[in-house]
Amino acid sequence: MNNRGTAIITGASSGIGAATARRLAAEGFDVVLGARRMDRLSDLASEIGGVALPLDVTSPSSVASFVASVQACRVLVNNAGGARGLEPVASADEDHWRWMWETNVLGTLRMTKALLPSLIESGDGHVVTVTSIAAVEVYDNGAGYTSAKHAQSALHRTLRGEHLGEPIRFTEILPGMVETEFSVTRFEGDATRADGVYAGLTPLTADDVADTIAFAVTRPAHVDIDEIVLKPRAQASATRAHRDAVRD
Ligand code: NAP
Repeated sequence: MNNRGTAIITGASSGIGAATARRLAAEGFDVVLGARRMDRLSDLASEIGGVALPLDVTSPSSVASFVASVQACRVLVNNAGGARGLEPVASADEDHWRWMWETNVLGTLRMTKALLPSLIESGDGHVVTVTSIAAVEVYDNGAGYTSAKHAQSALHRTLRGEHLGEPIRFTEILPGMVETEFSVTRFEGDATRADGVYAGLTPLTADDVADTIAFAVTRPAHVDIDEIVLKPRAQASATRAHRDAVRD
């Protein structure tokens, strides 16, 4: 297996991040995993031969210590993020908004800003940012999340122009419904409400998303996959899905 250099994956303790770490390790990357839950992160790192480092993307000092501990970075996967709550703007919870903006938007900004020099120095840097179809659509009660994902996407897409001519690529991944801990986090531990999100359809799996990330980062250096939108077959948009009475 070729050594493809170091890939750093944020939010690698569960869901899409964990699946991406597994998949990129299998593709021949040296993987560095970052998240707050170190028990999970360490178990996964030892399973796939990676390195686990504590990371809280909402904390500038945590990001600085994380980046100081890594020797190199060829691929950065900005995946840490998620949603909190589902309430109309009229009764918006500012703590939920702050959490979503800090994690998805400022987290991506901090990690990317800190690692851009190493990414460019690698001679073939690649920033993958996991946004969402919520980065291009809005839906009732979702403005905290959709506004954060729109902003994260705008930040990511701006980099493409700012670094044109430099050895670095930018890929945005925009998934629809993926069954992970995402909805449990959104509904603050309410598993029944979280299960309802995926009722009557077959959602994407974290591995499906990891597969698209692996595709993007294993193309030749002159190929930039700008964006990949992927949704379950049963989902047409953020607000429209076909649901069977019983999930297959
Ligand atoms: P998940 O299973 O809840 O994973 C979220 C990950 O983010 C966890 O590993 C969590 O780790 C990490 N994280 C949260 N806050 C963090 C922080 N402050 N610092 C570092 N890591 C942090 O959900 P997921 O579905 O895999 O979500 C991954 C990304 O995909 C998110 O950006 C999400 O918005 C996006 N997405 C998800 C869906 C979906 O339907 N699931 C759809 C579109 C986009 P710790 O708690 O251990 O820190």
